[in-house]
Amino acid sequence: MSDFHEMAEAFEQARTAPDVTDRASGLEEADRIGGVALVQARLQGQGAEFCADCDEPIPAKRRAAAPWAERCISCQDDHDKREARRHG
Ligand SMILES: [Zn+2]
Repeated sequence: MSDFHEMAEAFEQARTAPDVTDRASGLEEADRIGGVALVQARLQGQGAEFCADCDEPIPAKRRAAAPWAERCISCQDDHDKREARRHG
């Protein structure tokens, strides 16, 4: 999975960039590559193994039902509530 390697490199570049603009574009690049890797994983029917928020393993049942899920059910719930509040 070279995409993950590229993503790690882009993150590293963003983290160490001396200039704020470089840092922002580095993060954008990491985001773009990460997005591609995520889409590929989803197309292959592989959901995220661990919750993006609490790092708890996501139950196989949830991953099978929602391979695009990045969070466990309770974190997704919290996330949805936060998003709803932010958007009014
Ligand atoms: Zn969680």
